[in-house]
Amino acid sequence: MRAIVIRFAPRSGARSALAALRRHPCECPGRHPRTATITLGGMDKSFNLKRLDVKAFAQAGEDATGTTPLADFPRLAEESVRPAPAQPVHWRLHGELRHTAAGDAQPWLLAEASTRLPLQCQRCLEPVDTPIETHQWFRFVATEEQAEQEDELADEDVLALDGPLNMQQVIEDDMLLALPEVPLHDNCQPPAALQQETEGFAEAGSTRRNPFAQLAGLRGGPARGGENAD
Ligand SMILES: [Zn+2]
Repeated sequence: MRAIVIRFAPRSGARSALAALRRHPCECPGRHPRTATITLGGMDKSFNLKRLDVKAFAQAGEDATGTTPLADFPRLAEESVRPAPAQPVHWRLHGELRHTAAGDAQPWLLAEASTRLPLQCQRCLEPVDTPIETHQWFRFVATEEQAEQEDELADEDVLALDGPLNMQQVIEDDMLLALPEVPLHDNCQPPAALQQETEGFAEAGSTRRNPFAQLAGLRGGPARGGENAD
């Protein structure tokens, strides 16, 4: 199970694990493939990120790494302030079988991903280049009921194993969860127009007039008790 807090907590383990994925820093426009590239351990060529045979992948203790263009993650791409369809999303999957106390073998899957996106800085409204990294373990059980029950108590995400799994979607979900709630530059100023507006507000606040004086003004002169101004 994943608590909401996890998405903003630093994941130190992810950094080192992802270092191997990031062979170059992705700031080299035009040099990335527009289609996914995938490297497998010992598995056959039938590997499909959108239809992963989790059980076979885990049984084989398989590893797969790949690079998929941002265009293939449409919900994540929408978060970018500039269109960047070729921006590479690096990912890595690792599968293994682990035995429960009762002796049953359960498939486990580690999914990691990293990319950089220009998000909108919530202070100056300009793009802020934001690294996005994910590192999430998944454990697979037989039924939805079991998954729901066990997910409550588990650190990992517990999913029901029900046919091929769309890992591209799972990776996208993870990255959406890893987005900063409030993207900000380390150092920036609000835009000039916004600054003036804010100053204007402050001025209006400090010279706020007495409502009775204002009412008197409307009646054509200074307030004079109950007297009619006419
Ligand atoms: Zn900013």
